[in-house]
Order: sequence, then C-alpha cells, then structure tokens
Amino acid sequence: MSPETGPIGAELGSYLRNETVRLLRMSVYNQFVPSVGIENRTSLRYLTAHHVRNLATQPAVRLRPRFLSVRRVGWARPLLRLRSEVPATVHGADIYHSPLFRKHWPYGEDLDDEPQHPECPHRVIVIERALHESQLPLHWHEVPRFREPFAANCAKLLKIAEASGLEALEKETEDPALARAVGAAAAVHFLDHVAEIHRLVHVRGATRIDMDTYLSDDTLEVALMATRAALEATDAALKDPSRLAFVVSRPPGHHATRATAMGFCFLSNVAIAAHEVLKRSDKGEFSRPITRIGILDFDVHHGNGTEDCVRQQERIRFVSLHEHPQYPMTGGNPNEHGPKHNIWNFPLPAGTDWHNGYAEAYAEALNRLCSGTDRSDVVSDLDLVLVSAGYDALASDPLAGLHLKPSDYSEMAFQLIHRLKPSTPVVFCLEGGYDLNAIGEAVSQTIQGALRARAEQPQAVV
Ligand SMILES: [Zn+2]
Repeated sequence: MSPETGPIGAELGSYLRNETVRLLRMSVYNQFVPSVGIENRTSLRYLTAHHVRNLATQPAVRLRPRFLSVRRVGWARPLLRLRSEVPATVHGADIYHSPLFRKHWPYGEDLDDEPQHPECPHRVIVIERALHESQLPLHWHEVPRFREPFAANCAKLLKIAEASGLEALEKETEDPALARAVGAAAAVHFLDHVAEIHRLVHVRGATRIDMDTYLSDDTLEVALMATRAALEATDAALKDPSRLAFVVSRPPGHHATRATAMGFCFLSNVAIAAHEVLKRSDKGEFSRPITRIGILDFDVHHGNGTEDCVRQQERIRFVSLHEHPQYPMTGGNPNEHGPKHNIWNFPLPAGTDWHNGYAEAYAEALNRLCSGTDRSDVVSDLDLVLVSAGYDALASDPLAGLHLKPSDYSEMAFQLIHRLKPSTPVVFCLEGGYDLNAIGEAVSQTIQGALRARAEQPQAVV
C-alpha cells in the first residue's frame, strides 16, 4: 500500500496541528470539498496523506463548520410554553443524569474553551439547562459514581471475567454497579473489546481510537456510566411502566459494534440494556416474561453498532431512520432484514424534512417497530421500547443533512407512545445531536410529546 493511497498513519501526525485539519475533523462528514478529492460524507479515517496535503492549501473559511462555541450560541432559550401543553394529571418524566457525563474530553481542553470536537460535554449541559427551564414535570435522578479507584477496580473485574466467565461478576460485592455494567457490556461486546479500551486509556494513555473517536483519562468510566444509566433507567421503567425515562448521557453508543469503538461511540448502551433485560427475563426475574423489545433509532446516522449487537436476537426488533448515504455508510438497503428478520432500516436522502418524506417514513417505521408488519391497525406486541434518541437530524446540525425542526420531535414522541400499549415502558437514551443551540429544545419537545400522549392513556393518569 503506497503512502499516497493508504489510510493515514503516522504521517498524519505532523498535520494534526494544522488548524485547517482540526476544523475539517468536525466537518468532513458533510462538507463537499471537490478540489481536494474527498468524496462527500467520507470519514476522515479514509482520507489519504495526499488529501491532507491538498487540504492544507484550502482557505480555512471553506472548511469552517457551522459548529459554534457555547459562548457564541448562548444557552438554550426558555421553554415555558411547554408546561401548559402537558396536563397536570400526568406523571412526569424521569431524567437520568450525572456530572460525570461532563468528563471525557480531549486532553488539554477545558470546558471554558471553545469545543474543538462536536461530541463535547457542552451537549449535556445545554440539554440539562433547557430541561430545567422547560418547567416540564420532571424527576431528576443523579446516577452515582463508581467507587474509587475506578481503573484498578475495573482491571480487577476484567481479570475475574477472563478467568472465571462473566457469571463470576454477578457475585462481586465491592462495586456491584461497576461489576454489572462491565458484565452487561462484555456480554454484548466481546470481553476483549472492553479490556482493550481499558488498556488504551489506563495503560497506554492513548488519545484516540480512530480519527474521530478520541480518548481521555475518563473515557471508559464515562462510557460505563452511560451504560449504567441506561440499565438503571430501564430497571425503573420496567417497575413502573406508566413512567417515561430520558437518559441524558454521553458518549453516545449506537455506532459501537460488538468488536469496535467508532463514530464517537464505545459501548452500545441501548443494545446492552435490551440484552440485559432478556437475560433477567430468562432467569424469571420479572412477573411475566419479556418476549419482545423494540429499539427505535432516529439519530441521523444509521445505528450500525446497535444493529450488529442485536441482529442475532429475534426477540429484539431494531428500526432505524437515518440519512443515506451518510456516515457510517451502512443501513442503506431497506430490504435487508438480517438472519432473524428483525432489522428494519429506513434510509432517507439528504434534504428530507417532516413534510417531505420523513413523516411518511416515520409512520412506516412505527408500524414495523410495533408489530413487525406494515399495518397501522395491529396492536403493538412490545414489552419494552428503547429509543436511540439522536438529534443530529435537526436542520441546523453541523454533521448531517436532514431537515427536522425541534417541534417535529414532539410529534414523533407523541406518535410513538400513541402506538404502544399504556403498559409499555419507554426509555429514551441520548445518542448524537451537535447543534448546541437546538438540542436542548428538541429533547424538551420529545419529552413534552411523550407526556402529552401518555396523558391520553387512562393508566397514565393519577
Ligand atoms: Zn448521529
């Protein structure tokens, strides 16, 4: 493989300090730069040294992404009107959060700095701020931190799992929450996948997995916290299905395949939570067995990691609406349903908005999610719904090209809940969404729409 055509290796190092390249890192997915020969929406990891050299000669202004700093965009504006649209009789939504989700950030960068990577801590900050200001009926649950010292405890658990199997983790009492998160993650991903992230972060001090997936001291702890939050929110939702939960976590998870961290993602949280529920059901831990779990992914990118993690499990139905072609360039065939016929992909061209294709595709996606058929009059057979709630399909998102408005998410959540039985627990988990000006309102609209639908279901009324 010649240096001119091969993936960028060590040669890229000398270019990484170049400001133009730093900006490109964020915008490359969606910026067409014909003069340097980069194909539209190509991941930076596939650029060649030749591309990078040409790129360095381009005017920076052409490459500057629409991604702006928190200082410039300010905080999300108040959403006082949302409260009046939710009847006072309805239960609120449970919000799972943690200050730890503000960690995991490239070395040398600070929260006061302008973010240089779109997957930044500011995302959860603006969402939490918008939710506080929305005055929606919310119940806040802070997920406790793992016990210290995290790195040593985690290494010990990985050794136990390697020597005695994942079942041995269930007997661990030193930090049961960490043992559960590691065990659940390793049951879906390979144990080596979790161990490799630990080795990269805590032994080698590596700074990145690939060109767009960075590492920091806190990465594994924060990623496992996101897994833990999804597990605990799901536990609570199964106990009281009349409630709705939203997990405001990061890093996102739906691109992490069983063996590979990629696309800002390390652990496939939603898939992990789904598999964990089935395992518990098989052990008879619920009053009635869980026979079918639906995963709805409306992030603008295809949830290739989730699909990879669930395609062998017929009790999980995975439905994804996403822009195509777009990173990670999978999910483009709506007729490929996997070996268990449980995968339903809805690829949409760039430029699609609610009134021009999205609403139609979403209705079809809900039909498939709820019954596996194309009929809208079939009662949902789902015992649990997990939503990969990404907000990068917003028109203003810097990484993609669909054209949804924040209010469209209210309608989407409303329609989803409306299609489900009132006793179906629903947990939303944050995935992507990078416009700091809009994601707070979009999340608030999601919860508002879901609560509004729940208010129309008799069981949800106090
Ligand atoms: Zn995304």
